[in-house]
Amino acid sequence: MKNFFYDVAVNRPLPQLFTYESSKAIQIGSRVKILFGKKELLGIVLRKSSQPEFQTNLILDVLDDQALFSRHQLELIQWAADYYKHPKGEAVHNFIPPYLKKLGNTFPKTITESVHYSITKSNLSLTKEQKTAIANIQNITGFNTHVLQGVTGSGKTEVYLEAIESILKKKQSVLVLVPEISLVPQTLGRFKDRFGDICYAYHSGMTPKARMQVWEEAAIEAPKIIIGTRSSILLPLKNPGLFIVDEEHDKSYKQHEGFRFSARDLLIKRAQMLDIPIVLGSATPSLQTLRSINEGRYTVSHLRERVQAGTIPKFSIIDTNLQALESGLSQQALVEIEKVLEQKQQALIFLNRRGYAPKFLCASCGWVAQCSSCESNLVFHHIEKRMICHRCDSRFAVPKHCPSCQEPSLIMSGQGTEKIEQFLQSRFVNSSIIRVDRDTTRKVGALENLIEEINTHSSSILIGTRMLTKGHHFPNLALVVIVNLDQSLISLDPFALEDLGQQIIQVAGRAGREKTAAKVLLQSGFPDHPILAVLKNGKYEDFATMVLKEREENKLPPFSFQAILRCHSRSIKKNIDALNKLANVNLSGIELFGPVPASVAKKGGNYFHQIILQSSSRKNLSKNLELILKKIQADKRSVKWVLDIDPVEY
Ligand code: ADP
Ligand code: ZN
Ligand code: ZN
Repeated sequence: MKNFFYDVAVNRPLPQLFTYESSKAIQIGSRVKILFGKKELLGIVLRKSSQPEFQTNLILDVLDDQALFSRHQLELIQWAADYYKHPKGEAVHNFIPPYLKKLGNTFPKTITESVHYSITKSNLSLTKEQKTAIANIQNITGFNTHVLQGVTGSGKTEVYLEAIESILKKKQSVLVLVPEISLVPQTLGRFKDRFGDICYAYHSGMTPKARMQVWEEAAIEAPKIIIGTRSSILLPLKNPGLFIVDEEHDKSYKQHEGFRFSARDLLIKRAQMLDIPIVLGSATPSLQTLRSINEGRYTVSHLRERVQAGTIPKFSIIDTNLQALESGLSQQALVEIEKVLEQKQQALIFLNRRGYAPKFLCASCGWVAQCSSCESNLVFHHIEKRMICHRCDSRFAVPKHCPSCQEPSLIMSGQGTEKIEQFLQSRFVNSSIIRVDRDTTRKVGALENLIEEINTHSSSILIGTRMLTKGHHFPNLALVVIVNLDQSLISLDPFALEDLGQQIIQVAGRAGREKTAAKVLLQSGFPDHPILAVLKNGKYEDFATMVLKEREENKLPPFSFQAILRCHSRSIKKNIDALNKLANVNLSGIELFGPVPASVAKKGGNYFHQIILQSSSRKNLSKNLELILKKIQADKRSVKWVLDIDPVEY
């Protein structure tokens, strides 16, 4: 009897595939049960193999009567594993829907009812710019990356909807990526209003069963519209016709752990493989995307005007050196907040720091409260009455006196959202104050409730971190105060500056969406910083042009390609030794920075160090990384390694 041999992907951090034997033919892409060492594991059949020299194990079981992954999906995964130099087995397993990661579960056979789409036409009269953008997208044939660069409130979603309509008419499906789970419901709602029951959500907040159902629905029939996060890029859409990545600049598209891929970039690759268009939408496109436009690789449509009468807000810079701040707020900010409340409107205080005070210290000896396993400053949380490590989430009791010199009175410095909330409550006693950060939104549905509350309190003060600034529409917002931007302004991480510009323009974009003429106050100790001078005009393009020029002069991405090689262990010396050894590998055409401590220098007892590799050629970087990875694999494993290709932060 003739036997078959297959290379199987196993969820292990090893570069190779494993050859197994079967007495019957198995479809490529199937889930199988295999014996790996002494363990029964799930594997995915990746390709046929010839009979190897060595003894092989038998595939114990073929788990489903259909393959999980198509050739197209496997091709994309393998491309990604190659590109990001990630172990194939792990890369494949990253994309298995959670329900099917369990050996005991099999492909459910849901009988789906065929749903037909309906179109509820909107009664808006589209602007000229919107019409042009829609036509530009509709006229694309085959693969093309098209950027929809539209200021906040310019009606980008309306453009998506119109473009999608013509895809549905061709009986094709559409995948729309949003950067965060919290943005799915509102987007899904708008799409359902327009197209009815063919719209589905797909994200990691759903139960494995519910996700599985969408996975199958998508595969069975077109047209369908899926609104999803990162994990949806590999959905087995039947007859896909268009991909959309909303807020394409958002860093959440990069997976930060394990397999570090960019969902946006992989979806572009997928569109290319399928020969279909992909639209990247943003008010603040990433510098990488802008460069691709400049180089002619991407096409672009602009929406420069807001659709509703609202105007772009007026920016002012407040010099924080010249005055004593009250809980981080300047006198001008307090005066403006008061005015806004008198006019029964809303003010938003933006700062990216939750908790009460970010530093807890002893003034007499200089002791600072730090996490015992991360060495990062503990943040005092007033509501919990605890000091919390924002890296590992450990909680510590507040000491009664200084542990180092016994001084009885300890002090707190700096401010987080809790402190500003408390201060404003005492200052504006009769106003409603709504805080939106990770601590107030932990429970399912909490963010939606807060957004609802914001919309019912037309006059209120909102205090929020980044999560409040994404995608929401607050018609009555007339003032934005940006509290602590200095850290990013002077950061050595070039991506921090890009991020800062995007955030300021995005936060400002939440204001003055309707009639209201809004103000944005930028509080800074570096009021003459050239970046602030250009941000002050509120024009993202000016900011981007300036930062791009700087990047070009310094040969930084997107004018070069980078990879971070990061290691961690319990010992600084081990890390440095391991990284120094790599510096001896004979690299050509590579600039090497480091070893330096990572920006998260210690976490959970482990130290993190890294080198950054940079080259003007992607190919060359890739070739040299392979040399380095060989060296790492050959070495005794004294430290653990992480490779981050195309990093978006240091
Ligand atoms: P963006 O995604 O660019 O921030 P949206 O698409 O969410 O903007 O549009 C903002 C608001 O303007 C929405 O309430 C939308 O219904 C409305 N809108 C969009 N296009 C028009 C138009 N041509 N005329 C009037 N209102 C519009
Ligand atoms: Zn002390
Ligand atoms: Zn910690």
